[in-house]
Amino acid sequence: MRAIATVCLSGDLRTKLEASARAGFDGVEIFENDLLSFDGTPGEVRELCERLGLAIVAFQPFRDFEAMPEPQRGRNLQRAERKFDLMEQLGTDFLLVCSNVSPQAIDDMERVVEDLRELAERAHRRGIRVGFEALAWGRHISDYRDAWEVVRRADHPALGVVLDSFHILSRGHDLSTIGKIPRDKIFFVQVADAPLLDMDILQWSRHFRCFPGQGRLPLEAFMAALAKAGYAGPLSLEIFSDAFRAAPTEATALDGLRSLIWLENLLPEGPWASPIPPAPRYNGIHFIEFTLDEESAAPLGEFIGALGFRHVGRHRSKNVELWKQGEIHLVLNFETDSFAHTFRLLHGTSVCAVGFRVDDVEKALARARAFKAQTYSGQVGEGEMEIPALRGIEGSLVYLVDDEAAGDLQWRTDFELFDQASRDEAGLTRVDHLSYVLPATQLLGWQLFHRTVFGFEAEPEHEIVDPRGMMISQAVNSPDRSIRLPLTVSQAQETQPGRFLSEFRGGVQQIAFESQDLFATVDELQARGLPLLRIPQNYYDDLEARFGLDEDLLEAMRSRNILYDRKDEGDFFHAYTETFSGRFFFEIVERRGGYNQFGEANAGIRLAAQAAQR
Ligand code: MG
Repeated sequence: MRAIATVCLSGDLRTKLEASARAGFDGVEIFENDLLSFDGTPGEVRELCERLGLAIVAFQPFRDFEAMPEPQRGRNLQRAERKFDLMEQLGTDFLLVCSNVSPQAIDDMERVVEDLRELAERAHRRGIRVGFEALAWGRHISDYRDAWEVVRRADHPALGVVLDSFHILSRGHDLSTIGKIPRDKIFFVQVADAPLLDMDILQWSRHFRCFPGQGRLPLEAFMAALAKAGYAGPLSLEIFSDAFRAAPTEATALDGLRSLIWLENLLPEGPWASPIPPAPRYNGIHFIEFTLDEESAAPLGEFIGALGFRHVGRHRSKNVELWKQGEIHLVLNFETDSFAHTFRLLHGTSVCAVGFRVDDVEKALARARAFKAQTYSGQVGEGEMEIPALRGIEGSLVYLVDDEAAGDLQWRTDFELFDQASRDEAGLTRVDHLSYVLPATQLLGWQLFHRTVFGFEAEPEHEIVDPRGMMISQAVNSPDRSIRLPLTVSQAQETQPGRFLSEFRGGVQQIAFESQDLFATVDELQARGLPLLRIPQNYYDDLEARFGLDEDLLEAMRSRNILYDRKDEGDFFHAYTETFSGRFFFEIVERRGGYNQFGEANAGIRLAAQAAQR
C-alpha cells in the first residue's frame, strides 16, 4: 500500500486527491485542515476517493489529547467522539493521535496510559483504531520508545503505535526497539526525509521535510528496522515543505510516488522490494539538439563554426542539420511541425533534447518505466532509426542511444553526410557537462528523477553569489561521471538564472565542452575572432595569492581569460564564450588529474563578468 498525506501537496483537496490518484497512489491520509476548507461534505470526499480508487488510510491529526487536567480531559473525549462521527462519514477507521505538546499536559505516564486506553475503548466500540505517534517536540512523550511503552501498557486491541521516520531519525533515536515491537502493534508508518540542518526541530520539520531520497536522513536503517519488525502495513509520505506548497501538484505527487518506489527498494532483499532493473552503463552525452528558426540559423552556425564545429550532414527527410567536432554532435532542428517546434514556441532558440549514450537501451527503458518516467516517440520517416526518448527537464527529451547507433549508425541512417574530414577543429573532444536552470521548487524533483530513473548520483549543493542575489547549484552525475548535469535554481528574479527562467522558461543555459589543451583551444578560438568572456585583472592577482601559481602560467591564463580551480585530486582550467543572443553560453574546460567539480569557486566571478557584459 503506497499512501500520501494530503498535506504534502499544493492546491485544494479535490486537486490533491486527483493528483494522488493519477500518480498511482493507493491511499491518502486526510488532513483535517484540507477537509475543513473543502467545499462539500465528508460524504462527498468519501465518494470522490472511492471514484478515484483511493483508500482513506488515516484521518489526522488529533492533537493535545493525553494527560490533560479536567475539565480538558472530559472535553477531549467528547472532541474525539465528534471526530469519530466525522470519520464514519469519511469512511476511514484509523485516527492518528500525536503526542501532547500543551504546557498543561501532566507528566504522568499512568495518566497517559489510562487516557489512551479510554480513547481506544471508545474508538473500538465504533470500529475505529487509534495510532499514537511521538512528536519529536512532544511535551512529555517525544520518543517513539515511550509511545510504544504507552501502547504496550494500555494493552488494547484498538491501540497501536505510529512510526514517523522524521521524528525518530531527526532525534537520532536508537532504532533497535522498532524490531522488538510486535508487527500487529505497529499500526502505521509515515516516511519523510530531510536535509541535515542544525536548527530548531519543529521548524525543521514544518518547513524542510522532503521526500525519501531527497534528503540525508538514514532511511536505510529505518527501513531495515521495519523489516526486522515484520511490518507489512502502509508506507505513507508525510511531508511538510514550503517548496512543495508552492510546487505544481501533479509533479509533486509523481515525485512522491517515485520516492516511495526508491524507498521500497532501498533494501534489495527487503519485503517491499520490486524487480527494478539496474541502471545501464553510460558513455557520455552523444548529442545535443537545438531547436531554432531559420533566422537564428546563420548566427548560431557562425558561433558554433567559430567554436570549431563543422556542418557535416543534412537529415534525409527533415529540416535538420548535423554539426560535429571530436565526439560532440550538435543537431540543429528547424522543423516547423514537430516536438522541436512545440518546444521552441515555449522556450525560443534552445536545447530541446540530448542523447545519452548507454550500453543497454532496453534495460534503461525498463528502469525508467519502473520509476514512472514518461516515454516519448516522435515521427520517424521510412527507413529511419527510431531512438527511444524520455521526457526530461521542462518537457525536453532525453534520447537513449546504444553503442551501435552512437557508432555512427544513427547518422549514416538518417543523414546525408557530406564531409568527414576533421579540419578546422578547435580541439573540443566531448561534452563535459550541461547546466540547467529550473524553477526553485523543482530542484528536489529533478534531482530525484535523475537519481531514480537514470541511477545518477547527487552531489552536495553549492551556494553561489550572483551580483543580484543567491543561487543554488547541485549536480547530478552518472556514476562514471561521463554525464554531468549541474541543476541551478535561484529565488531571486534578477540573477542570471532568475532572468533566464522568466524570459525563456529555463532549461539548458550552459554547455560545457572538454578540451585536452585549453590554452591551444583558446588561441584557436581567438584567432577565429570568437569573443571570450573577459575576466577582470583582480581575479588573477587573487589567484596568485591563493594558489602561488607560476608567473608564466598565470600570465598564460590572464592573456586568455582562463579561470582556474584546484582541489586535492587535480586542477581545473576553464573559459567561457560570450552569451549567444542573450540566451545560453558555452564553456570550455580542461580537467587535469581527477578534478571532479565545476569550478564553483569561480562562478561568482563569471556571473559578475557576464553582468558587466550586458
Ligand atoms: Mg507524522
